[in-house]
Amino acid sequence: MSKIQAIRGMNDILPTETPTWQYIEQVTQRLVQAYGYREIRFPVLEQSQLFKRSIGEVTDIVEKEMYSFADRNGDELSLRPEGTAGCVRAAEQHGLLYNQQQRLWYRGPMFRHERPQKGRYRQFHQVGIESFGMSGPDIDAEIILISAALWRALGLTRSVRLEINNIGTAADRKAFGAALTAFLQQHEADLDEDSRRRLHSNPLRVLDSKVPSTQALLASAPTLVEFVSPETSSHYEELKQLLRANQVVFVENPRLVRGLDYYNNMVFEWITDELGAQGTVCAGGRYDSLVAQLGGRGTPAVGLAFGMERLVLLLEAAGQLPEAVHQVLDVTVLASDGVSAEQVLTLAEQLRTALPGVRIMSHCGGGKFNSQLKKAYNSGARIAVIIDPAPESGEQTVRLRQLDDEGRSETVAITAVAGVLATAT
Ligand code: ATP
Ligand code: MG
Repeated sequence: MSKIQAIRGMNDILPTETPTWQYIEQVTQRLVQAYGYREIRFPVLEQSQLFKRSIGEVTDIVEKEMYSFADRNGDELSLRPEGTAGCVRAAEQHGLLYNQQQRLWYRGPMFRHERPQKGRYRQFHQVGIESFGMSGPDIDAEIILISAALWRALGLTRSVRLEINNIGTAADRKAFGAALTAFLQQHEADLDEDSRRRLHSNPLRVLDSKVPSTQALLASAPTLVEFVSPETSSHYEELKQLLRANQVVFVENPRLVRGLDYYNNMVFEWITDELGAQGTVCAGGRYDSLVAQLGGRGTPAVGLAFGMERLVLLLEAAGQLPEAVHQVLDVTVLASDGVSAEQVLTLAEQLRTALPGVRIMSHCGGGKFNSQLKKAYNSGARIAVIIDPAPESGEQTVRLRQLDDEGRSETVAITAVAGVLATAT
């Protein structure tokens, strides 16, 4: 019978890889908590309408990347392609946004039917951070500072650069859209097919085109900056000042627009040159009209999301993965020939109680001492606790053997093992 394979673009994350993931997860969790953010969890499946109304009908994500289907009741559902929409839905549904400020974060799998390639998958994982109820540039700066702190914590500061832009209000973008449409219509014949279609449905999305000929054409197109209204420019100027005051280096990219319709004012991306075409590792911005758009009361909001897979790849490419991340075991407990499985299991259990946090594996499955020792060396543990045969008289002893090339060992009373290990691990 043929074996069933995983769905294309959906990866298994194997035990050799999970330590890297856990490392990033631990660093991020500690970091967001240090800024007072609280975790929220919401389903991977939502009404399709939620994503259509937030991300926008005429976006790559909604038009061609969503996993959408009718369930057994005929409800139109989609696997979440990103987290912001679900986060807003959940926060709003439970009254978290009513007259309150919220600092929230989440992590988990997202789903987009894209062409799989390095750094681009159909199931991928994001960590997202969202703040609600604060309209000033200070919270925008905080969101960006969290990401900057993450690069520092992961040793990636020199691998990423920050690009920011002010995309103005919805009205600004409408006026700009009209001017852009007029310009693009004059060059319609030179546009790629996708862009030609978008010209009429969502002209701003043409700016995001990755087709080189379209990009070349856009060099002489009108720019959004000319249409941005004064109130958003002063917000943006203050944000830049706050970033400078905190030594965050940035480049302004007037062509930066995001692939989701809900953003306004400031948007940003952290980009790396070390991952080829999939260079954006983290992206975000302000989205002041999304809550109202989804039926809530107008609530200012700003957030970001970063992709776990790209961070894993970047850590590897930049050689910034601490060696210790892959060490998953400290101690193994083995039996000399003639010592029972019961003794091994019991001692290991006692040691775990006495030494919380020390990672202890007991040898299971019997076998000769030499083969047990070989497994111990392969386990990655640093110390083997070897139970000696019971003595005729006197105290039961164990040998503590260093699992290195020298293999030095010392004999200690079984009652003293925990104490010795406490100082050795
Ligand atoms: P891109 O321009 O690379 O398609 P995007 O603008 O669609 O990215 P967002 O929707 O803003 O990306 O998602 C934020 C982050 O999530 C990205 O910066 C990236 O790190 C990650 N990401 C997005 N799509 C994928 C994917 N298909 N596979 C892996 N990571 C992804
Ligand atoms: Mg995309």
